[in-house]
Parts: sequence; C-alpha cells; structure tokens
Amino acid sequence: MIYNTRILFVTRYLREKNVMRKLLFLLLAGFPVPGMAGEGYPTGIEHVVVIGIDGLSVAGLSAAVTPHLDRLAREGAACTGTRVVLPSSSAPNWASMLSGAGPEAHGVTSNEWRVDRRDLQPVTATARGFFPTVLDVLRARRPGACLAMFYHWEGIGFLFDKEVASVASCCPPDKRTATDAALCIKERRPLFLFAQLDEVDAAGHAAGHMSPAYLAAIQQADSLVGVVARALDEAGIAGKTLLMIISDHGGTGRGHGGNSPGEVTVPFILHGAGVKKGYAVTRATYVYDLAPTVTFALGYPGDPAWRGRAICCAFEGYEPPRDFIH
Ligand SMILES: [Zn+2]
Repeated sequence: MIYNTRILFVTRYLREKNVMRKLLFLLLAGFPVPGMAGEGYPTGIEHVVVIGIDGLSVAGLSAAVTPHLDRLAREGAACTGTRVVLPSSSAPNWASMLSGAGPEAHGVTSNEWRVDRRDLQPVTATARGFFPTVLDVLRARRPGACLAMFYHWEGIGFLFDKEVASVASCCPPDKRTATDAALCIKERRPLFLFAQLDEVDAAGHAAGHMSPAYLAAIQQADSLVGVVARALDEAGIAGKTLLMIISDHGGTGRGHGGNSPGEVTVPFILHGAGVKKGYAVTRATYVYDLAPTVTFALGYPGDPAWRGRAICCAFEGYEPPRDFIH
C-alpha cells in the first residue's frame, strides 16, 4: 500500500512538473497561454473621461429617451447593475468612486463630511488628510498631466484635494458643466476628466423618481453626454479615450438614502479605446471599482488601500475573473 501510494505521488509530481515546464516554455516563447490573456495593462488608452449622472437609476435609464447612452452601451460594455455603497446618498458614493473604497475606508459617511470635520478617520491619508483618490495616484505617476474636475453640485468639491487637481470647477447648471468639460477636452486634452451632472437627482427630489420630469431630466443629461462625446471627436482623441458613465445612487419616491433595489443599483457604461463592443459585464460591480478601472486603463496600479477592482473583463483580451470561491 505504501509502495503504491509513493508511485502515485511520483507520477503525479512528474505530470505536474511537465505541465509547469510546458507553461514555462510557452511563456518564454511568447505564446499566449490559456488564462493568461490580457495579463498586465491594456495599451492605447491615453485619456479617461468619466461622466457622473447624479441620481440616475437603472429603471430611469431604461425608461427615458437616451440615444447617446444607448449608443455607448451598444458600442461598449455595460454592467448589468452596479451596487452603490451605503448609505445610498451622494457624498459617500462620489467619494467611493473617486477613492476606490467604501465609507469604512475613506470615512465619508454623509453629505456633511468635510476633511477637517469628520467622525470616522480614513484608514490611511495623504499629507493633506485625504484618503488617496484617483487624482493622488495619477498625480504621483504623471506630475505634469491635466487632471480636471467639473461638477454642478458643490459637495463634490469637498471630496478631493484641490491642490492635486489641475482644474476644480463648480460650474452649474448641467449645461455649463458639460460645455466647460467639452472645452477643456478640446483645449487641454486631459489625462483624466470627471464631470458630474446634478439635475436628474434634482428632478427626482422635486417631482418624484420615474416622474415625467425625472425622465425628461435624464433625456437632457443624455444630450449633454452627447456634447462631451462630440468634444472627444473634435479633439481627435476619441479613439484613444476610455469614456465611462456612472451614477451615485438611484431613488424611490422623492428621495434616496435607503436600501431598496431602485436606490442601491446604478448603471455603469464603459466605451471607447480597448473596450469590448456590445459586452455585458455580469460579474458583481461596485461604484468603488471606478477608480481602479481608471488607473488600470492608463497602465498604473491603484493605491494599496483601495478595495475596488478594475473591471478588466470589459476590455479586449481580458476574460471574466475566475477567482471567486463561493
Ligand atoms: Zn446624488
């Protein structure tokens, strides 16, 4: 019995060793190895533009007239429903997107949060007290790059270090936010640009989620997405830009902040350089996957304190992750 077990062990060892040798040979020879496709970072992405539509729910997107967003989803990759962080309110979620982590890590637990007025300390902080955002990571890598932040809601301006951004502009209403962002794209060709539109959320609060006014506001936001997309074309950088559309929460009735499906699930669309066409991202995604996806697309690792994971499977050459053990 002992002899038989030893033979079995040695046979298995050699078999495994052979497999390892074959894999090593294929790797050294430069052949693609199954499961290894897409290792490393995508190439050819030189700019990332994020448009955040405050209060846009999955139901709202599917009910409203949105030719531009529909085209981006059709020609790009769309998540089947991205989970927000709790509470489903604005500042914790915008902070999570920009910071690649949830409130338990960055400490932004409410819209009243300020860097010098907080009840939960971040797990790690920059010299000026911020949990590291995508701006901090990109600035460390690209000291001279244009990192631009445009936002309708002034609350966004408290969530990142303005010393690190090249542009930090609170520029309501939405139309101005979009046209200012479009102008910046054409004049400065930023490495990273973020634009937050606020009027969909305002319509949800004033007239009710899924009301005609709410759906009309989504249609207006869609036309502004078209303005920014057109600017990428006019700047001649559409072919090397990753464009992402995301929201911070949905809504129910005239509010949000709770745990209902309509509040905690949002659309997340990826489009442009390196992105698969007509692809449905079926893995679980979170708003805090945004920051790692930005740095991944540009070829850099995220901050070690981040909790999110780049949505690699949305990019050509990368397969859905198989590292889940349920
Ligand atoms: Zn919001």
